[in-house]
Amino acid sequence: MHIAVIGTGYVGLVSGTCFSEFGHDVICIDTDAEKIDKLNAGDIPIFEPGLQAMIEKNARSGYLKFGTDLQSAVAGADAVFIAVGTPSRRGDGQADLTYVYAATKEIASALTGYTVVVTKSTVPVGTGREVERILRETNPNADFDVVSNPEFLREGAAIEDFMRPDRVIVGTLEKRAQEVMSAIYRPLSLFQTPLVFTSLESSELTKYAGNAFLATKITFINEMADLCEKVGADVHDVARGIGLDRRIGAKFLHPGPGFGGSCFPKDTRALYQTSVEEGAPLRIVDTVISINEKRKMDMAARVIDACGGSVSGKQIAVLGLTFKPDTDDMRESPSLDILPALVAAGASIRAYDPEGMEEARKLLENIDFCKSSYATLEGANALVIITEWNEFRALDLARVKSMMKTPVMVDLRNIYDPRDMALKGFTYRSIGRPN
Ligand code: NAD
Repeated sequence: MHIAVIGTGYVGLVSGTCFSEFGHDVICIDTDAEKIDKLNAGDIPIFEPGLQAMIEKNARSGYLKFGTDLQSAVAGADAVFIAVGTPSRRGDGQADLTYVYAATKEIASALTGYTVVVTKSTVPVGTGREVERILRETNPNADFDVVSNPEFLREGAAIEDFMRPDRVIVGTLEKRAQEVMSAIYRPLSLFQTPLVFTSLESSELTKYAGNAFLATKITFINEMADLCEKVGADVHDVARGIGLDRRIGAKFLHPGPGFGGSCFPKDTRALYQTSVEEGAPLRIVDTVISINEKRKMDMAARVIDACGGSVSGKQIAVLGLTFKPDTDDMRESPSLDILPALVAAGASIRAYDPEGMEEARKLLENIDFCKSSYATLEGANALVIITEWNEFRALDLARVKSMMKTPVMVDLRNIYDPRDMALKGFTYRSIGRPN
C-alpha cells in the first residue's frame, strides 16, 4: 500500500513510522519545513521511546520518507491519513478544525485514482461528512471514500500502542474503503486485533466517548482520594479493591494532580460542546471538566499548606513538568497551573524535567530550570513531585534531606511510601493516603 500521512506530529509521525514498519510505502508530509528538514537529517523532533530507532530503520530501507510536497504525496497514495492538530477553539472549547479543512482542500485537488481519505485526527462527529463535501466540491471528478480511523495511542507508549492496539476502529460502511483499510492493518491480524467497522459518525464519537470515559475514571478516583484523606482510608487499597472487579478494571485508577496532556482536556471540552450543540448535554463530562480544572489549582494550595500556610520567600524544588513521564509534551500539564500559582504566592522555584524543559521554558516564567534532580534541592524548603519519571522513584533520600533546608516532600504521584518517609524524617504529603 502507498500511504501519505498529512501532519507529522506525535500521531502522524508515529502512525507513519509504524505503517512503514508494517511494510507499507509511507510518506509523511508537514507544512513545517524545519521539522521535515530535521527528520530528513535524522533528527527526531519529539521524544518518544523507541521511535528514533524505528524511523532510522525504515528510512534507511526506503519505506519511510518525509517531505513538504503534499500534492505529489497524495497523487501516488492509496490512502491519505489526515493527522493534523485539532486544538481547542477559543471561546467555546469546540475542536478547531482549521487545519483539518485546510489539509482537505489541498488533498482534494491532488487526488488521482481511487483514494481513501482517512481522518486520524480526533474530530467532532460530522467532520468526516464535511471533509467528504469539501473534497466533492473542490474536485467533482475525484474517486474517493472518507473514513474515520481515530487513534488511541498514548504518548510515552505510542509505538507499543500502535503496533499492539486493543482494537482498530474503522468508520466506513463502503466495501471498497473497508478493503483498503483491512489491507493496511492486515499485519495486526497476526495478533487477532479486532478491526471494528462502524459508520463514520459512530467512529468519530467512539474516540471522544473513550477519552471522556477515561477522564471520568481518573476524576472519580481523584475525588475518592480526597474522601480517603478525610476518613483515614488509603486510596490505593480502595482502587485495588474496586479494580479487581472485572466490570471496573484496574487501569486509570491512580490518583494524582488532575489529568492534562494534549487529549483529555481538549477532547472532553469538545465532546461537551458537541453534546450541547446537539441538545443532549453530557452533564457528567461537564462536571469532570470543572472538577479537573479546580483540582490542578488545588494542588498549589496543598503545597502551600505543607509549607505551613505560606510559601512567600520560600524556595520550592519541583521534579517533573510534563503531563506524564516518557514524553516531552507539556500541553495542559498540571505543572502549568501549579507553578504560576506558587510563584504568585511568593515562592521561588527551581525545577527539573528529563525531557520537558525545552518546551517548559517557552510556557513558564520566573522559573530557575536546573540540570538534574539534585540541583533543584540545595536550600529548598519543600520538594514537589509533579510527574512520576522513573528517575524520581529512587532518589537518595538521605542526600535529598541533607541538601534541603526543611525536609518537606509533596508527592503528587504517590511514588514514595508514607511510613518509610516518616521514618526517614520527612514531612511527607501524598494523595489520598494517611500521612
Ligand atoms: P501535533 O500538533 O503534534 O502535530 C500536528 C502536525 O500537523 C504539526 O506538525 C503541524 O505542523 C502539522 N500540520 C498542520 N496543518 C497541516 C497541513 N495543512 N498540512 C500538513 N501538516 C500540517 O498534533 P498531535 O498530537 O499529533 O495530534 C494530531 C491529532 O491526533 C489531534 O487531533 C489529536 O487530538 C489526535 N490524537 C493525539 C494523540 C496524542 O497523544 N498526541 C493521541 C490520539 C489522538
